[in-house]
Amino acid sequence: MNRELLAGRIVDAVRSVVRSQGPVPLHAPELAGREREYLNDCIDTGWVSSVGAYVDRFERDLEALTGATRAVAVVNGTAALEVCLRLAGVGPGDEVLVPTLTFVATANAVTYRGATPHFVDSETATLGVDPERLQAHLERIAEVRGASCVNRATGAPIRALVAMHVFGHPCDIEGLQAVADRWRLTLVEDAAEALGSRWRGRHAGTFGRLGALSFNGNKIVTTGGGGAVLTDDPELGRRAKHLTTTAKVPHAWAFDHDEIGWNYRMPNLNAALGCAQLEQLPGLIARKAELARRYGEAFTRVEGVTLLQPRSGAEVNHWLNAVLLDEAHPVGREAVLDALNAAGFGARPLWTLMHRLPMYAACPRDELPVAEALAARVINLPSSAALAAA
Ligand SMILES: *Cc1c(COP(=O)(O)O)cnc(C)c1O
Repeated sequence: MNRELLAGRIVDAVRSVVRSQGPVPLHAPELAGREREYLNDCIDTGWVSSVGAYVDRFERDLEALTGATRAVAVVNGTAALEVCLRLAGVGPGDEVLVPTLTFVATANAVTYRGATPHFVDSETATLGVDPERLQAHLERIAEVRGASCVNRATGAPIRALVAMHVFGHPCDIEGLQAVADRWRLTLVEDAAEALGSRWRGRHAGTFGRLGALSFNGNKIVTTGGGGAVLTDDPELGRRAKHLTTTAKVPHAWAFDHDEIGWNYRMPNLNAALGCAQLEQLPGLIARKAELARRYGEAFTRVEGVTLLQPRSGAEVNHWLNAVLLDEAHPVGREAVLDALNAAGFGARPLWTLMHRLPMYAACPRDELPVAEALAARVINLPSSAALAAA
């Protein structure tokens, strides 16, 4: 069969699910609940900025949803990651293990700490870091000295491991925790894409010592821009709040600060939006699960293309649907993306792998054959919850 016909079958499968003629974006926010009411409340009361009841409520709502002891709302997910890494003890001269298959914010947050990202490979089943390959890599390049892990080649301490849950699919977080424990690494979770996702009943972002969420406009729920730090350690939670609110010492009238903090607090307006969005999360996930079911059905009839499926034990938020082209698929990623986008479907490739970006090309890394292969095979499909309403 010729390439055009094969690409056409993929387009037809998407069209049969999406049932729309107009341009269909990859992911659109849905503001169909009490957003306007809560925002008007902020305006009516004058509480629009860095203090207000919605920030507290949003944090309590996140704690109830995730089961984390403490959630601290911040300006965006990247800032949340930066705070997590600081509280994990990451500082200048350290290395941090990061998947090469991630959004650039994961690596940037490491760089903001004055540390160096050290890229590791992923596995096909979850698209997350592969614990076995990570273990083998550390055996080759690292050793434990006292309470730290040291890169024998660079001499730098490897302080932490950042696990990322790609498109809301939980990575092998228990496997990664075991490797982290063995090598004295602090496990931090980039759960920016995984609000509502669970592994064996436990919410993504609550396995590591600290976890980061994002509420950017493209995520499953949005605060316009926003993020949160999750932790089960009350002291780390207190520190996260303190550091993200300029390290101000509580006082009735004095401006006193006891260390160098950040102004990373989420404004009340954004938190109000978030409270209304969280009320809709169960419904959003249900419709997105239905959309994923329809994609799964449509793609069983397309040879050489498989929808990424949750592994057993995972509850997935179905934030973004992804298909994998067979390794030997005769139509390359570019041709499929061209055909889908020409037909009005906002399909997207994986992010350019971190070690391929100019600013990170010289960073330490393992060999990355699985991530390289995945980059040539993974395509995200339009995934707004609204598409399941039809
Ligand atoms: C969105 C995202 C972030 C960053 O979140 P922002 O709120 O956009 O700063 C970090 N990591 C991953 C994997 C993301 O998808």
